[in-house]
Amino acid sequence: MEAEYDVIILGAGAAGLSAGLYTARAMMNTLILESLGPGGQLLITDEIENYPGFRNGVKGPELSQEMEEQTTRFGAKLEYTEVEGLDDLDKPLKVVHTYDRDYTARAIIIATGGAHNKLGVPGEEAYAGKGVSYCAVCDGNFFRGQDVVVVGGGDSALDEGHYLSGIVNSVTIIHRRDELRGTKLLQDRAFNNPKVKFLWSHVVEEFVGNDILEVARVKDLKSEKVYDYPTAGAFIYVGFHPCTEYLQGTMELDPLGHVYTDIHMRTNIPGVYACGDARADSTRQLGAAVGDGITAALAAYHDLSS
Ligand SMILES: Cc1cc2nc3c(=O)[nH]c(=O)nc-3n(C[C@H](O)[C@H](O)[C@H](O)COP(=O)(O)OP(=O)(O)OC[C@H]3O[C@@H](n4cnc5c(N)ncnc54)[C@H](O)[C@@H]3O)c2cc1C
Repeated sequence: MEAEYDVIILGAGAAGLSAGLYTARAMMNTLILESLGPGGQLLITDEIENYPGFRNGVKGPELSQEMEEQTTRFGAKLEYTEVEGLDDLDKPLKVVHTYDRDYTARAIIIATGGAHNKLGVPGEEAYAGKGVSYCAVCDGNFFRGQDVVVVGGGDSALDEGHYLSGIVNSVTIIHRRDELRGTKLLQDRAFNNPKVKFLWSHVVEEFVGNDILEVARVKDLKSEKVYDYPTAGAFIYVGFHPCTEYLQGTMELDPLGHVYTDIHMRTNIPGVYACGDARADSTRQLGAAVGDGITAALAAYHDLSS
């Protein structure tokens, strides 16, 4: 039996669309399956300042539309459906189960990305992109010389807090416990950084402002006191989850569910690749997702043609 496609790409975010551009231009019969809309996280990103080639920045939705049009122009087919599982991965004809039908391909590229965990408090959504952020490397520069808070107490919170301290006036780490979870080295670095302060045993109850964020309404868990903590920005690090539930039991995943790959984006299963935020050790940056997608596509092309 012949496979319907040379390659099926799961997810049409930056990684999946970049992979599709390269496989389609290499004359591989390419299908991209996407559950929501092309662009993934780009669709919820207002301004991107650090993607090379756009010196005045670029809007996420605009960039994703350009990426989609470029990829489909070269013949990649895009279908809207949710991937629910994979089968026969060890066979030449691999099966993708979706909500409404099955597809077969000789190679599969996993690019289903992920999402930042939310605090789930009032104002978080309303001020996302207007003070509330989930990425210091992406948005830290918007808060140059100002006072910001970081919510969380793990490695990401400490690492990104350190990054921010090189840009902003002060960083207050708001943590619900009275000790940190992060590695000792990162803890020591935070304690020795004069720009980093701590609000121990505190939680954020609400984000408040006018057009932009002005205040984190916090609660001291020991005294039960609720008060307003002025801040220009709030960086939330309470975890990130890859969208890879449908892969459980099919391949090697890290404890959080990211797919392990080698530097060519090959997984431990021949003919199956992973790229972008869904893979282990991703830097979770747009440029990296694009590079990963290209690398996965070239590895798939190389493997299928040899
Ligand atoms: C608010 C915000 C701001 C950011 N700002 C910047 C920035 O300034 N600079 C920067 O470099 N990076 C930034 N990033 C990070 C960057 O956007 C991501 O690293 C990058 O877009 C990840 O691309 P991806 O293709 O790997 O994943 P995603 O963008 O997550 O795309 C995955 C796609 O797969 C689809 N999908 C998921 N599950 C399934 C399924 N089961 N079936 C079918 N489809 C599925 C999703 O709908 C999605 O479209 C930001 C991220 C956010 C959220």
